Amino acid sequence: MRMHLLSVAALVAVMTCAARAQAPAPTTPENLVAAAKRAAGTDYSGTFLRICVAPENLAGGAGRGGAGAAPPARVVPDRATWYARPYKVFDNLYFIGTRIHSAWALTTSDGIIVIDTLFDYATEPEMIEGMTALGLDPRTIKYVLISHAHGDHDQGAALLQSRYGAKIVMGEADWNSTLQRAATAPGGVPKRDVAVGPGGLKLRLGDTTVDVIATPGHTPGTLSYFFPVKDGGRTLTVAYSGGTAFNFARRAENFAVYRDSQRKMVEVAEAAGATVLMTNHTEFDRAYDRVRIAQLPRAAGEKHPYETDTATVLRYFEMAGNCAEAQRLSMTSAGGSTGGQR
Ligand SMILES: [Zn+2]
Repeated sequence: MRMHLLSVAALVAVMTCAARAQAPAPTTPENLVAAAKRAAGTDYSGTFLRICVAPENLAGGAGRGGAGAAPPARVVPDRATWYARPYKVFDNLYFIGTRIHSAWALTTSDGIIVIDTLFDYATEPEMIEGMTALGLDPRTIKYVLISHAHGDHDQGAALLQSRYGAKIVMGEADWNSTLQRAATAPGGVPKRDVAVGPGGLKLRLGDTTVDVIATPGHTPGTLSYFFPVKDGGRTLTVAYSGGTAFNFARRAENFAVYRDSQRKMVEVAEAAGATVLMTNHTEFDRAYDRVRIAQLPRAAGEKHPYETDTATVLRYFEMAGNCAEAQRLSMTSAGGSTGGQR
């Protein structure tokens, strides 16, 4: 009898567990972080750590994307800590970034599209000298795409505009903050040029089209991109994420905006069949490793070090969206343990 009762208890326990397993998991910050961790896998574990485990803005504050605040004047760090050689990475894409930040030259049949610039101290040695060393003429730069108006990505813009007549493409909201900078800001202030609104932009130059997507969140005017790269006759589609960290004002609505942008990127990346994921910080896409690995000879059939598959690209944006939603929910749900709005 005693055995029988135990068996019944065990059976009830098993049935309860089965019922729980079948029910959808409740949407909680913890479950969203767990989902983000699964999405990150081993491909994006560092990014997961940065925005899901230890996001930067937990203490609140205006964040670096605040209204027009000029970036602080910078002391030029020791060149040995940031200088990277330039590399041809795809048939039409050249790395001209530092060890820390990415900048790229995308070549077309009608000139060059530069994707992101760097801190002002790196503009000459990395971008200008780098392009020249690779056989690219900086005078043929037609467009400079700025993913967002933070100094580590935009301080080279004014020089490329004034010296070569390149058109600067930036999100409307980020133009507004950029134009409020002091003229003495590092790198100077570019003149207002192409402004991208919420609807995005198809930027065509010669034989190449860059699909510019408005992805507000990291800053109000953050832009992300889809563009083709050629790898020995094959054409791959890059999904380029324009802003990652949560260093903006810690408000629930800001996380909702960020989350929605990531969800938009999932949709566009899937429709585009993107198989390459890039970001503008080398820590998020291992750019500095990959651009060097790309220099090695490959075995027959071996993929380019940047090529993955669409599911892997989508997981990046699923992770980022879930991390943002976890933050938002932790601020809005009653009893949320991290404070913020109730
Ligand atoms: Zn930034």
